[in-house]
Amino acid sequence: MKYVYGPVKSRRLGFSLGITTVPYKVCSFDCVYCQLSKTTEKIMARKEYVDEKDILAEVRAFFKNKPDDLKVDCITFSGSGEPTLNSRLGRLIKGVREITGIPVVLITNSSLLVEPEVRRQAAGVDLIIPSLDAVTQDVFEEIDRPVKGSNVSKIIDSLIEFKKIFKGRMWLEIMLVRGINDGESYLRKIKKVVDKIKPDRVQINSPVRPPAEKWVKPPSVATLKKARQIFGENCDIV
Ligand code: SF4
Repeated sequence: MKYVYGPVKSRRLGFSLGITTVPYKVCSFDCVYCQLSKTTEKIMARKEYVDEKDILAEVRAFFKNKPDDLKVDCITFSGSGEPTLNSRLGRLIKGVREITGIPVVLITNSSLLVEPEVRRQAAGVDLIIPSLDAVTQDVFEEIDRPVKGSNVSKIIDSLIEFKKIFKGRMWLEIMLVRGINDGESYLRKIKKVVDKIKPDRVQINSPVRPPAEKWVKPPSVATLKKARQIFGENCDIV
């Protein structure tokens, strides 16, 4: 199969069947910590990068042939690029729901949520895991290296907006990189923004797999403990 993979055992999601909606490393960011290597096509333009029918045909074939004892806890739009770049995301989510009642998850870098149509399409999932690594433009550009014109204040506003209309759950993911966004005062700045977004959970992540840039290091254990303390009860270190 080209677009459906797994199910992969994930600490957060259980057995997750992944769906990729764009070719390898087509993304609006080029994060310094990306475990997939450098972005090959940094872009904000949405289109049907992969044919909706081909993806849904694979999902159908997977469930037709799935052994009864193979566990699938969720279907996750994620993969090797930014899934919301596929303009058919809304139809894909609907199509998956017609095939199976298993919960649908979207993992996104949040950049395209600035577009109302993307928010409308993304609202069709049960759980969204958007990332927000920075709350100031300079740190945003340093860590996520976004496509030109991407503005972190607008992304924050769109996350606030999205959470108000979204009926599912939101787990906000923050990747901490040593020396960039893991200082105590910066963590407190992020916390202020998180309080406005009001996600159901905050998930603090660290780059543990080989990153795109060799100099990227995870935060210290003491920093992770501090982050846990700052973000409080709703926070998981993943
Ligand atoms: S948003 Fe995800 S896929 Fe894109 S560069 Fe960052 S980590 Fe890699």
